[in-house]
Amino acid sequence: MGLIVQKYGGSSVADAEGLKRVANRIVATKKAGHQVVVVVSAMGDTTDELIDLANQVTPMPTGRELDMLLTAGERISMALLAMAIGNLGHEAMSFTGSQAGVITDSTHGKARIIDVAPGRIREALEGGHIAIVAGFQGVSQDTNDVTTLGRGGSDTTAVALAAALDADVCEIYTDVDGVYSADPRVVPSARKLTTVTYEEMLELAASGAKVLHLRCVEYARRYNLPIHVRSSFSNLEGTWIVNDHPEGAEDMEQAIISGIAHDKSEAKITIVGVPDRTGVAARIFQSIADSDINIDMIVQNVSAAATGLTDISFTLPKSDGAEATALLKDIQGEIGFASLLYDDQVGKLSLVGAGMRSHPGVTATFFACLADAGLNIEMISTSEIRISVIVRDTDLEKGVKAAHTAFELDTTNEAVVYGGTGR
Ligand code: ADP
Ligand code: ASP
Ligand code: MG
Repeated sequence: MGLIVQKYGGSSVADAEGLKRVANRIVATKKAGHQVVVVVSAMGDTTDELIDLANQVTPMPTGRELDMLLTAGERISMALLAMAIGNLGHEAMSFTGSQAGVITDSTHGKARIIDVAPGRIREALEGGHIAIVAGFQGVSQDTNDVTTLGRGGSDTTAVALAAALDADVCEIYTDVDGVYSADPRVVPSARKLTTVTYEEMLELAASGAKVLHLRCVEYARRYNLPIHVRSSFSNLEGTWIVNDHPEGAEDMEQAIISGIAHDKSEAKITIVGVPDRTGVAARIFQSIADSDINIDMIVQNVSAAATGLTDISFTLPKSDGAEATALLKDIQGEIGFASLLYDDQVGKLSLVGAGMRSHPGVTATFFACLADAGLNIEMISTSEIRISVIVRDTDLEKGVKAAHTAFELDTTNEAVVYGGTGR
């Protein structure tokens, strides 16, 4: 008998039918002799709808109240799922993140898990229950307020619980059959990957492939916990996220590139006419870091010798754009830069693959295919196994398709998208 943690995303529990379908799957796992802990997301697009509602009553909801509101979404689905399982003659108990022992810091909207103390979950399992846990939420160690882990954070709840309970596997059930070589909503000919390494999945998740939350992959790697990403709408084997591709894995044999990710959630800020002095960049980025804003790509031009001035561009989440711009305006006088440009019509396109290390020419092929598709590259950044570029957001999907074809990733089987609105 094993302990399995299963996570069901919003599209898997979008309505009563979905809840009942998922309840049947959970009961089948329990009947197969396993202990089951289930992490569930809010139904369908509930989280987006709650955010829209908050924005209708105020342009600036406070973090504390927004978290209070959003955590209600997962509370609804956890209770309904427990009831649906009860109706099948099995005992289930639901728990909020706080009751499940998910302890976080106090950064509302993107709290980090500090500790998981799942005493009540263990008790429920020992009592023969199926434990249902609300995803995406915890409780602050300092303030005792409820917190959320950031959009898509239920994946992280699942992996953190699986690690704390020493589960055999963490299964992430979603609306596609696994991790594909590109978002199947954009590239229907994308190929399903049999295995993806933690390292590759980290890069894909950080580059916008929202099929897994970035922190869930970091967590799984730290605890060496295998993740199985699969569909809640089919019984097909999905994708395994593991340390290494198995010997002779067919995916690795041919593919230099494992996947292509795209992201429309970032904006670009350019600080024009920055004095080229020691400590200026440190001052700029410190002021942004102090507000817990994560920046992504940074480009600084060579300073023009005649003027001693340079431009610095960087990308950041659009949701932090207004705050970052205000912070920079506050230090404009002190630093003496000329002006600020804010552009939220950008998209990021990333190629990820461990095979890149040993294959020169990947960058050339990538840039050539973008040029052939008529795309202009605005920023570039690389890691050992990733190349990312910033392009116009309206060009992004064209770029994903062009790169997918250029690296010979297309298959003839059309990927199935079972549900969800892609929102
Ligand atoms: P859930 O509600 O189950 O958490 P998400 O919407 O967060 O589901 O994540 C699943 C979606 O991720 C898919 O429907 C797909 O559109 C998107 N996605 C983006 N990149 C990929 C990829 N490389 N492989 C699979 N799905 C991807
Ligand atoms: N419901 C939350 C969201 O939509 C968390 C999650 O689904 O993982 O972001
Ligand atoms: Mg998700």
